[in-house]
This record gives sequence, C-alpha cells and structure tokens, in this order.
Amino acid sequence: MRAAVFHKLGSPLVVESIPDPTPGANEVVVEVCRCGICGSDLHITEDPIFGAKDGMVLGHEYSGRVAALGKGVDTVKVGDHVAVFPVHGCGKCATCLAGVPAWCTQMRIDGGGYGEYSLAEQHQLIKLPKTLALEDGALVEPMAVSLHGVALAKPEPGARVLIIGAGPIGLAAAYWSKFMGASKIAVTAGSMRRAELAYKMGATHFIDPANASPEAVNAALGGPPDIVYEAVGKAGLIQKCVEYCKPRGTIIVLGLCTAPDTFMPFQFVSKEQRIQASAFYEVREFQLAADVLEKDPETPGAMVTDIVSLEDMPPMFEALRQRSTQCKVMVDPRHLRA
Ligand SMILES: [Zn+2]
Ligand SMILES: [Zn+2]
Repeated sequence: MRAAVFHKLGSPLVVESIPDPTPGANEVVVEVCRCGICGSDLHITEDPIFGAKDGMVLGHEYSGRVAALGKGVDTVKVGDHVAVFPVHGCGKCATCLAGVPAWCTQMRIDGGGYGEYSLAEQHQLIKLPKTLALEDGALVEPMAVSLHGVALAKPEPGARVLIIGAGPIGLAAAYWSKFMGASKIAVTAGSMRRAELAYKMGATHFIDPANASPEAVNAALGGPPDIVYEAVGKAGLIQKCVEYCKPRGTIIVLGLCTAPDTFMPFQFVSKEQRIQASAFYEVREFQLAADVLEKDPETPGAMVTDIVSLEDMPPMFEALRQRSTQCKVMVDPRHLRA
C-alpha cells in the first residue's frame, strides 16, 4: 500500500510503498477514506519531545471502511463505516473500561491515517451512523478535541465565552459553546480571515486583532468572559487569557505549546481564576461528536478547505507550517493526484 511516511525531524514526509497491514488477534484493517491533517502532527515531525520514530505513519483523524478482521473480532464486520479512536489503551483496565483510555498505563496515540490502510484494535473503532458520510467522519476526532475542552469548562447556560485562535480547534470550541448554551461567543485570531467561518461555527463576535483588548472583548460580550479558550499554543497567550478572563473565571488551554511560557501569577491569583488543560477526549465525547455531525455535517464541514491526494500531501503538510489560508485539510488516500 501507499503511505506518507515520517523519516526524520525537520524533513518532509515521503510517499512510498510499504507492506499492507495484516490484522492480528482483535485487530482490524481499516481502508482509510479521509484523514485530517492535524496541527499536532506538524509538531510531532519537528519537535523531539514527541519521540517520533523513523518509518511511522502519522494521521489520527480518520474515518474509513473495515477491510479485514483478525481473530476474535466480533464487534464490527467488513464494510462497516468507522472512525478510529486514536487514544490507544489496553482496553481492559478500569480507566479504559470507563471510556477514558487517556489515563491507561499503556496509553499511546495511534496514527496510520496518512496511508491507504491502517490497523486498529477492535475496541478503538467507533461505528459511524449509517447516514453520516464517511468523508464527514474524519471530523469526529477534531470535533471531539474541542468538545472535551468545552465540557471541562462546565459552562453555565448563558455563559460569555472568548476563544483565542480560529483554527479548527478554536472554531469547534465556538460550535460546542453554542451547543452548550453560551449566550455570547467572541473569537479573536491573528487576522480577520476566519471571521466568516467563525460566525458560521457559532461565534457572535469576531474581535479585530488590530484592536483586541479586554475593553473590546468586554464591549462585545457585555462583560468579561466567564470562560476563555486558548486554542493557538504560542508562548504568552496564557497571560492574555488571565487578562481577558473575569475573576473566578475559567481558562481552558487547548493549544499545544512546546516552548517555555510565563505568566504573571499575581493577576491570576488575585482574580482567583481556574486554569484547566485539555488534551484528549473520552469515548462518550467521540460518540457525541459523531452523532452531532450526523445531524449537522454542513456547519463543521465548512472548516474543510482542501482535499488532497496522498501524493500531494507532503508539500501541503510543509506549507501548513506557515500561516496559511487553509483551515482543515483532508487527505484522501484514494484520491487521484490533482
Ligand atoms: Zn488532531
Ligand atoms: Zn487500559
């Protein structure tokens, strides 16, 4: 099969032929339909902190068809439409059985979506609703990331929300904030480019970066935000969240910053704020994201700006390291080269 393979930090992925996966006991081969390119994959291929290994196939935001079954697989059959829950746990311990494999001692994040076929264990498969297009199924994972962050914020009905960052995670945070009853949702980003998309995803205000300030945010929201989401992952932004957020408000850090960062504890402490990090999701959140996507594929689907073939994927992947006009880019391994 063909796959975009990682070889070493700082060099582009290489599309090459690698052996077809064969399913072992309890394993399933998934024919990948779509796989989203995720910002964390960009980090993984440039920062040693993630421990990426030569020969890895990344890509954890994918949906596809069950193509082959290993021994003992009885929860899915060939042809079923699935999304793969990429947070891999043993499937047997208490936290795995509770649907939270992120805290399993054997936890790892599985990739495989940047290839024609991928291997997963049967307990990682989430069967997609019949009426959800497989193409849309690849949005389940990024939608679940933001759903988890919004769920951790425990928003009160009518909450005022500020989201810093208008990439897929920030935009999906706007979507779920609206879903969970926020009254006012402001988004701010490095440019005005995503304003229209942010409104479509549920934002009520887009703060012009040229005059983004607590005053501008308070004026838009009718008061300081109860919840501030950091959805960029750059040093200095937690301090911004502290400045924007109301006293006793909640700051949710979704951004994946791999550089040292500082903030002023005095402001944070004197405002008695809560900072909560959010990295993964639970099985029930993944399931809810799939169910909501089935009902409303159009709104989150608007984040998909590009669909590329496997061959065209590595240059696109490199281009995404710079600020780009793309939002969510999907790889279609069966798609012919443009
Ligand atoms: Zn991701
Ligand atoms: Zn486990």
